[in-house]
Parts: sequence; C-alpha cells; structure tokens
Amino acid sequence: MNRRGFLRTAAPAAAAVALARGGLGRAWAVPTTTPGMAPVNGPLTVAALTDRLFLIQGGGGNVTVFDSPQGVLLVDGGSPERSAEVLRLVRERTGKSRVEVLFNTHWHWDQTGSNLALGREGTRIIAHENTRLWLTAEVNSRWQHRVFKPLPHQALPTQTFYTTGSLAFGGERIDYGWLPQAHTDGDIYVFFREANVLVAGDTLAVGTYPILDWCTNGWIGGMATATQALADLSAADTKVIPGTGPVQSRGDLAAEHDMLATLTTRLSKLLAQGMSIKDMLAAAPTKDYDGRWGDPTLFVSNAWPGLVQRARSLGVNIV
Ligand SMILES: [Zn+2]
Repeated sequence: MNRRGFLRTAAPAAAAVALARGGLGRAWAVPTTTPGMAPVNGPLTVAALTDRLFLIQGGGGNVTVFDSPQGVLLVDGGSPERSAEVLRLVRERTGKSRVEVLFNTHWHWDQTGSNLALGREGTRIIAHENTRLWLTAEVNSRWQHRVFKPLPHQALPTQTFYTTGSLAFGGERIDYGWLPQAHTDGDIYVFFREANVLVAGDTLAVGTYPILDWCTNGWIGGMATATQALADLSAADTKVIPGTGPVQSRGDLAAEHDMLATLTTRLSKLLAQGMSIKDMLAAAPTKDYDGRWGDPTLFVSNAWPGLVQRARSLGVNIV
C-alpha cells in the first residue's frame, strides 16, 4: 500500500486512538457531564420573546414555546432528565394541558428529551428525516465516549422532511428548513415569520466554539454555510435563539460565520499538509478567535475527522 492509501485507511483509526487517549483537552480529564451537552442541573428560567413566545432555559437545551389560540407548539424539549419539569412549566405558563406540535432541531438528547412524554400523548413531532433515522439507531458518539440508545417508537418524529416546509399555526407562518451537514446532518431552523423569531438550534453557539458532531456527520464547512444561511434569513432586529444560552442576533450569526469560514480554510490547509489533530492544536490556528470562543481543543479535535470524512466522500486527496 502506498503512503497515500495508507493514510486514507489509517486516518479514522488514528483519530479514534487520539480521542480514546483523552489527550485532547484538559476539560476531558475529569468529565462531570458528557462533553458537548447542555447543563441540566440549573434552575429553569423563563424569558419572554414576544407576547406569545417564550424561552425556557436550564433544562438542557433551550426550549422555545409558542402559546397560541390553536394550542401550544414547542421547538425542542430539553433533556430527558428535566423533561417532566419543563413540560410542567409549559402547562403552568400556557394554561393548556396538551402540546400540539414539537419540532426537533436535531437528534441530540439535550433537544429531544421530551419526545417520549409528548409522543405518548399524540403530539405531532416534526424533524428532518436524518434526525428520525439517528433516533432509531444506536449512536456511538466517540468524541463523547458515550453510546446513545435508540428511542422507543413512540418518541420518534411523526412527520419528517428533506429540504424545507411551512406550517400555518396559531396565526403564525412557521417556516422550517434543513441546514445540511453542519452541527449534525439533520439540523433544521424554525422561523416564526410574524414574530420575527428564528430558532437556530446548536448551529449557533454562545461563548464557546460550536460543536461539530462528526459521528453524525457534522462538518465545519457545513457549519459555515449554515450560519450564512441563517444570517441571510434574519433581519437586524430578528431574535435568534441558539441551542443553549441567551437570545442572539444576526450580528452574532455573522460573527460565527466569519470565524467558521476562516477556520475551514485554515484547517483544510493544515490537513493538506498531513497534520494530525495534535499537530493542528500545536499550530494554534484559532488563536485570534479564542478570545470570543474560548478553548478550541474540542472544536479542532472534532473538525479534523469531519474534514477527513468530507475529503474522503468527495474522493479528494487530503495529503
Ligand atoms: Zn446538539
């Protein structure tokens, strides 16, 4: 086998070994929670977005609640550990016992934790088809050192799509669409047009580098494209809801896009030089962005296998 062939074969194995050694970040040394997952131990807080939309935070990922005369609609449902509390709060605040519609912005458990409870009650669950497929499968998330079991049948999305869709609900026009191969390969946005509220999910990160979940096909270049698409959908006064953290704006999407587009180019060049994850971290390609986005260790470590997978799927030589 020639060198190029060897590297093409060995790259994922090398990544797995590097990740298994745990030498990729101080934060991983004594994990208190699963890396990359939203905290679940805080108090639940409620923030008004408009007169009919509010945000619940603290129970895993952000939960966006739309309270309308036609019923309650949620975008994401928090973590399984906090689902009961989140849903109790939704009922208290809306005075309605049922949730009519639930969107899943992607398959991660900090977003899909209310699927089972709501699915059992007959709530319509809308997601990208790839999200439904991941939820039917056992996912070995190697970068998190965690295996996620398939969800029970009742917890699965009941309505899936591939590209875009629109829902007239409660006097709102709710547009939704796919952000291909970004944080995962099933990310969607949900845009409340009249209210001017755009739910971005985990494609938008606050105060930390975004997660690139390469085990379910997340990719830095796709994240750059996604943040541009979301910025293009937004106006200056659009309220943009990240996967975790406070309300953001178009300016924040633009800043993340700038960082991702620049780093896609930089990391691709380093990969083309044959660099390992360790080499890349030593080269400090993110240095001028670390002030805003924090420790780049997990980000670079996850960008690397995503770039390798992408290069392989396109049949491009990476070294
Ligand atoms: Zn996520």
